Amino acid sequence: MDWQEALALARQQVIEACERCQTGKLAEQITIKFNPRFTSRAGDANYRSLTIRLSQPLWQRMAPAERRETVIHEACHLIAYFHHGSQIAPHGPEWQSMMIRCGLEPKRCHQIERSDLRRQVRRREVYCGCGKREITQHRYTRMKKGHRYMCRVCQEMLTLVSPQETKKNAKSSKSPTPPSSRRFAFFRKRRKN
Ligand SMILES: [Zn+2]
Ligand SMILES: [Zn+2]
Repeated sequence: MDWQEALALARQQVIEACERCQTGKLAEQITIKFNPRFTSRAGDANYRSLTIRLSQPLWQRMAPAERRETVIHEACHLIAYFHHGSQIAPHGPEWQSMMIRCGLEPKRCHQIERSDLRRQVRRREVYCGCGKREITQHRYTRMKKGHRYMCRVCQEMLTLVSPQETKKNAKSSKSPTPPSSRRFAFFRKRRKN
């Protein structure tokens, strides 16, 4: 992805939107920024700073038409506020009429697949009465340093070694330490890939 090129194209689209809505001069005042950490939406617009913020991670998975629509959607927010003041509803009739002037349907949501954008966390295998379990690398390292976690399902302590080895040493190594109050929660489902 050439971000300079993407920015230049977005700028062109903002100019086009402003011209269509009779606010050609506004385009010069609008700042467009690509943000690498912004993923909640494809874009947003700040009226005070006249800034359009665009999501770098989402941009990469959007089709050119979706990108254009996002830029014009956000530009129309700034144009509508410019014409009518900041008291208007974000996606109200004022914004809608600007979208129509730009030749777009005034619908508000962009459906972009963002399920795999969550941070990838390395998983490590540990064992308990249920068999194999996966925990985060962070917890795994803590277990190696002596922290103890309990399986919420079988109530057994998680171990770093395989069940066979655990059984072999069960009698000799049974720890007298009471279960840790830090329970291990299985709130994350295993990712498919
Ligand atoms: Zn919007
Ligand atoms: Zn278990």
